[in-house]
Amino acid sequence: MDVTPPLHLQSTALEPEAAAGAPRPVDLERAARAVRELLVALGEEPARDGLRETPERVARALAEMTGGMREDAGRHLARTFEEASDELVVVRDIQFHSLCEHHLLPFSGVAHVAYLPAGGRVVGLSKLARTVDVFARRPQVQERMTAQIADAIVEHLGADAVGVMLESEHLCMKVRGVRQPSSSMVTTAWRGRWKFDSGRRAEVAPLLRGAGPR
Ligand code: ZN
Repeated sequence: MDVTPPLHLQSTALEPEAAAGAPRPVDLERAARAVRELLVALGEEPARDGLRETPERVARALAEMTGGMREDAGRHLARTFEEASDELVVVRDIQFHSLCEHHLLPFSGVAHVAYLPAGGRVVGLSKLARTVDVFARRPQVQERMTAQIADAIVEHLGADAVGVMLESEHLCMKVRGVRQPSSSMVTTAWRGRWKFDSGRRAEVAPLLRGAGPR
């Protein structure tokens, strides 16, 4: 009896990382080839002086700007420490730069995070900033990014309640299409106890926005 698995299963077996859903490393050469091709499609001459090294530069820049795809937020949020109180924690104005997945143009802004620690488990300020960064540096839509940050804090910190607010400006809204240079976008995500408690949300939202006592 022939026990050799079908070819597609063999190739999966040879790539255990891909099979486990691990992110592939960036193929910089392929990305650079694609950028060179894009320049040609736009009517440019990639061989001219100013553009000669542009494909490689763009490939490296995009690899950096999507580096969050190859990072795990759980690694940052695992570094918790014990705090006696279970009082509200609010961290405001965490700057981020992301990449709109519809146009591959940047959107930038600030994230505000509030959570109620459970069992005294809290994280340092820098770990929350790293978490925002992990979800920002990838092709994104702002609504999903907001939800992913909130979900990661629930999952890895076990917080009782989480609120995340993102305020950002999208370059794709400014330089193309409707050309709205001063428009901004605000998204929120509520988890845990606050998800269905509109009263508490109404108290926490001004703290996130910075409208409350500072
Ligand atoms: Zn866009």
